[in-house]
Amino acid sequence: MIITRKISDLKKKISEAKKNNHSIGFVPTMGALHKGHLSLIDCSANENEITVVSIYVNPTQFNNQEDLKKYPRNEDNDLALLKQTKCSIVFLPETTEMYPEKDDRVFDFNGLDKLMEGKYREGHFNGVAQIVSKLFEIVKPHNAYFGKKDFQQLAIINYLNNKYLKELKIQIKACEIIRENNGLAMSSRNARLNDKQRSAAANISKIASGGELSRFMLALKVVLSKVKSVPTIIFDEIDAGIGGAVAHAVGERLKRLGENLQVMVVTHHPQVASKGNYHLRVRKA
Ligand code: AMP
Repeated sequence: MIITRKISDLKKKISEAKKNNHSIGFVPTMGALHKGHLSLIDCSANENEITVVSIYVNPTQFNNQEDLKKYPRNEDNDLALLKQTKCSIVFLPETTEMYPEKDDRVFDFNGLDKLMEGKYREGHFNGVAQIVSKLFEIVKPHNAYFGKKDFQQLAIINYLNNKYLKELKIQIKACEIIRENNGLAMSSRNARLNDKQRSAAANISKIASGGELSRFMLALKVVLSKVKSVPTIIFDEIDAGIGGAVAHAVGERLKRLGENLQVMVVTHHPQVASKGNYHLRVRKA
């Protein structure tokens, strides 16, 4: 594993790999690595000859200076963990390297950055876009890997990639959420929880039933589709655990969504199926 701290060194190593026709997978992180990050590296290593991992706690995405100060950092441990993976090159820049000048760029996400988490962390997603765009321009990977754990961030990155960085032709790959045994999604910030907070946080994944979770996903997709132009949304088993009036309401919601984009739904409910314009009967062989 090659350790680089300077952009020029990283670029040199990457252009050598590209000369050998190697495909480059990229995993950007803020360090304090855990199994969630390692799963992204595994995904990349399965699909590319070279995997580049960056570790950089990006100050421009923190709207709270106390949060930035307290963000967990452990370079020695991170490097020891990375050595056990198929990471080919790790990039550990200083802030002087990433921001030799103040970055004043303001990205337009058509409101996507102002909803949900963005409402409570002003400027956060703009900061994410600043650092990810810089890293993408430097690494110019074929594929870049992000966790579904940060659902809104993933939507922002896709938007950024399609709107501002199209010429780089980077494929964004979404990876599954890795959880602790108690159901809590792994996160570097979990290190800041005490035992009581940790077991309370684990309840988040238990509160919602399957049906509630699928309706929660419906609500999220409806919100995101308003600000993000996607051609097709697919809902698989959106109606698990519902019936009667609720199934009817879900069907109505999907029908309205289908007025602006193509919606494909896998369903068992006539209340939902009857709202569709076209029907395909699917049978298990
Ligand atoms: P971070 O270091 O928190 O900025 O995360 C770097 C990348 O790892 C992001 O794409 C995250 O979505 C992803 N990630 C973090 N935790 C997990 C997890 N538990 N499962 C899957 N991906 C994760």
